[in-house]
Amino acid sequence: MSNTQTSYTPREPILVTGSAGFIGSTFLPLLLSKFSASEIHSVDALTYAGSRENLLDLPESSNHSFHRLNITDFDSLQKKFQNFEFKTVIHFAAETHVDRSLNSPDLFFRTNLIGTTNLLKLAKEFAVERFIHISTDEVYGPTPDGIEFDESAPLNPSSPYAASKAAADLATLSYSKSYDLPVIIIRSTNNYGPRQYPEKLIPLLISRASQGKALPLYGDGKYERDWIHVEDFSRAVIAILECGKAGEIYNVAGENRILNIEIAERIRELVGVAESKIEFVANRPGHDRRYRIRTDKVKTLGFSPQIDFDEELAKVVKWYLKTPQRLAKISTGAAVEK
Ligand code: NAD
Repeated sequence: MSNTQTSYTPREPILVTGSAGFIGSTFLPLLLSKFSASEIHSVDALTYAGSRENLLDLPESSNHSFHRLNITDFDSLQKKFQNFEFKTVIHFAAETHVDRSLNSPDLFFRTNLIGTTNLLKLAKEFAVERFIHISTDEVYGPTPDGIEFDESAPLNPSSPYAASKAAADLATLSYSKSYDLPVIIIRSTNNYGPRQYPEKLIPLLISRASQGKALPLYGDGKYERDWIHVEDFSRAVIAILECGKAGEIYNVAGENRILNIEIAERIRELVGVAESKIEFVANRPGHDRRYRIRTDKVKTLGFSPQIDFDEELAKVVKWYLKTPQRLAKISTGAAVEK
């Protein structure tokens, strides 16, 4: 970890990848309002998980350009770097659904590892001054009871999704160690909030409950995850962008550890449909029992989550119920956390 920079004013142009997805589309308006004078570009392939609709609420005065682009297409990505010479990169783009990764691991390794490597290569060539890679607590694998993993814990991913993210983390760290590229890795717990593709746990359960259907949970439903509101997480990314140290990894959590079965019960109550029943379905292979991470390090940068889970979950449920067209894109599988 040879880089020692401790405070960073994001140099422009700034590139955000995956801006049309769930987290990217919450983070981008925050970035645009905070750095309104900066030139900001975002790219997204607009896969099934990304939507232009997610980008309709950007601040009007912002200096933002959107480019439809697949990060696995090195030549197209290189042209953007040649045209704009990005100085800061914040990388969210990824295939993110664990169940899909079990059926199409190759797609996950292509997007999450090769796509990230393409960005790293270009970041090195164009002397990017800060490269933020967004990763997940899933790279640590299941946490034994009574333990919390800090950033130095070994990587032990279970699913192809988690393995592809862990591989991308290692590729990112190698660019720090070998080429002194100023990278930072952020490993987050589960995000919740509006605009998440409805195959994920919370919107899927809301959809099923609102139709009076059974709420499908894998195994015994006693799978523990920590949940952070997507706006809190977006604030964490800004704090780390500005105050994080190059070459470092930061865990971020919402400090809301909840079992899937408890989430299902809360959603059933919030939707107000008594007849929805929890239905336990055959477990997903490699389903990790719990993830628990320590967040002391990000707290030293002044970040701690502000949003109360119970209060906000009620608002999130209302948001999805008011936008039924979102919930219509529903998958029929069991509800998964990511
Ligand atoms: P998402 O699936 O909602 O969005 C991903 C976005 O990436 C989509 O807009 C999609 O079109 C885009 N994309 C996919 N493949 C691409 C490609 N080849 N080229 C360009 N764009 C592509 O995911 P999200 O929940 O917003 O997650 C964003 C990032 O945060 C991911 O890296 C994910 O691993 C990480 N993360 C998410 C969570 C969570 O709970 N949602 C938790 C921890 C980490």
